[in-house]
Parts: sequence; structure tokens; C-alpha cells
Amino acid sequence: MSPLALLSQGSAQNHPYRSIPVPSDAPFELKPSPEKGWGAFAIRRIERGAMILREKPLFVIRKPHEEIMEEDVWTAFQQLAPSEKQQFLYLRYNGSRPFTHMSEAFAENSFAILNSTRPQATDRPIHGLFLLHSRFNHSCIPNSKVPTTDGEVISSFATRGIAAGEEITICYGDDFECRTTHDRHRELRFVCDCKACLTGTPFQQLSDMRRTLIRGLEYLKRGVDLNGQRQGSASPIVVDSKLKKAAEDFSIPLSARLIYGLLTMFLLEEEGLLDDFMIKRLNPSILQVAAWFETESNARIASLAITQETWLERLCMAFRLYGREDVADHAIAAGLRMIWERSESKSSRPKSKDSRLELKNSKLELMVRVE
Ligand SMILES: [Zn+2]
Repeated sequence: MSPLALLSQGSAQNHPYRSIPVPSDAPFELKPSPEKGWGAFAIRRIERGAMILREKPLFVIRKPHEEIMEEDVWTAFQQLAPSEKQQFLYLRYNGSRPFTHMSEAFAENSFAILNSTRPQATDRPIHGLFLLHSRFNHSCIPNSKVPTTDGEVISSFATRGIAAGEEITICYGDDFECRTTHDRHRELRFVCDCKACLTGTPFQQLSDMRRTLIRGLEYLKRGVDLNGQRQGSASPIVVDSKLKKAAEDFSIPLSARLIYGLLTMFLLEEEGLLDDFMIKRLNPSILQVAAWFETESNARIASLAITQETWLERLCMAFRLYGREDVADHAIAAGLRMIWERSESKSSRPKSKDSRLELKNSKLELMVRVE
């Protein structure tokens, strides 16, 4: 155990975090977490899908993260009531020493508030300081999630059953399901010791392979990498240059698209990441692909595949389509290419009089949009 953890445990009884108000009905308590400063621990069983905490920010700053300066935080702080100022001053770096700068305290304890009702690039970025959610430590296989909100209040939900006494964790990265241990640690700027990060264990080795494969499958489906860009010719993600070109040309056949989609779900499930939010995000495009087959025998297998009980059974059924072409392949590829070119040229979307074409395009866009 690090001296820091000993220090924070030694002073746990009169630690300022004892004074942070936790709602009386909250299913967790704040206490020292070995090697991680402080954390939130379940005080009773929390069922999958249950809300853990709904929290209002102490204050918000409407600026991009990198532009938030000391004076921005100071100005916001000055407007707080005395009791709220006190709460801000409770904050400690990794649960131990006071922060030397207010901007540092804000950076370490804030969340980007993403508005799901107006997710446009023109929105002013909002960052809120959340005293309790910031106590949730990171895991690359977390047991809770803070989904996108409709306002400034954020909520966390259990993504699987959490046992009494278990630490409640969230994932600090947006696309960690596609990143290896090395990549994740570089972004986190600390060494995570979750199950997926314990170097040299069979799970960790499998985890790196699964996440790399998920990233590759995403590339094959969308024709771009996580950053929305195409990889150079020496792609470390899709090494088969023919396959890479097919993905970038959107000429991956429907049969392969369905298999890739279901394989991704199976890999996420194996990794312990397939929670209800992930299913809600990814399943619509799988259902759409299944509905696009026009060759009768293909359509029959695809619809049978998606009605199987487990992701593995769905995947196994879909494998019957492996290597098959479909009547709809050409039209789907052309549609996806058109959407890509339109988004590349950044031209405004032309108004179409054909509502059926509009509908089909919007469904296609679901497949190529950056999640
Ligand atoms: Zn980890």
C-alpha cells in the first residue's frame, strides 16, 4: 500500500470528505479506497439498471476544458453560498493534500455535461463540478455509468449488479472498449489496476486482443478509426490492405456487416462491457443491417439470427451468411459512400422531395455516424 493510502486511511475519521453531504437514501458511502485515495462503496446491493445517484453541480463553467483558467473558477466560487464554498474547499488531491490551484481542483472534480437534446457542435461546452460523482474511481470494466443528460443534473446507473461493500466505479474514457491497456494508461495518466489492466494475466492478454479486434471491426463497419479519420497505409488496425480499402469504400457486404456487428456485441459481453446503455447504442444498427437484406434466403437467416436468445447464438446463426453476396449490397454501399462524401464536403444536407430516400439515408447515417 502506498504511503499516500496509509496517510488517507490514517486521517480517515476526521477527513474533510466525511463532511461532504451524501443523500440519506444513497446506496453508498465515501471511504478510503486502497491506492486510490477515496472512493464510493455500496452499502447495500444495487441491482443492474438502478439509479445510484442524481447530482446537481456545485457550479458550472461554460467553456472548453482547455480554456478554463484560475480566474474562471475563482469567479464561479465567489458566487457560491458560504456552505457551498466550504464544500469546494473540502476537495483534496487524490484524497490527501489540499489543491494548490482552484483550476486544478475543478479539473480533477468536474464532468463535461453533454446535452442529449442538443448534441450539436455549436453548443457551448459546459463543465460542472460534482462533489460526489467525482469520488467514483475509474475502472476499465466499470460497474456504473453516467449517461448523457438533458440538463445540468447528472445521474449514475449500475451497469451490473453491485454487491454490498463493492466499490462503485465508472470509466473515465469515452472509447476505452476499443483501446489496449497501454493506450488507456497513456490517456488516464495513471496506472489502473482493474482486471483488464493487471499485466500478464490471461484476462488482461485476452482483453487487449478483444479491444483491438473491436476497434478493427468498428473500422470495417464505419470506414474510419475512433477519431473519425482514415488510417494511413500502414494501418495497425486493419493490416489487410484489400479489406481496409473495402471498408473505406463502404463496399463491405451486408453479410459481413451483420457478422461484424454481432461479433462486436459478443466480444463486449466477454469483456464485461455489454451493459444496457451499450446495447441501446449499438443494437439499432445491427437490426437495421438485418432488415436490409433483399436476397430472400439471406433475409431469412438474418431475421432468424437476430431472434436467437444469446449474442453467441445470434453470431453463430449469422455465420451461415459468411461470404454471401446480397442483392442490396450495391445500393447500400452507394448510399453510405454518398453520405460520407457529403459529410466530407461539409455541404448542407440537400432537401429531398423523396421521403423514402430521406428515410433510408437517415438510417444509413446511423451506421456511419461517429458514436
Ligand atoms: Zn483498467
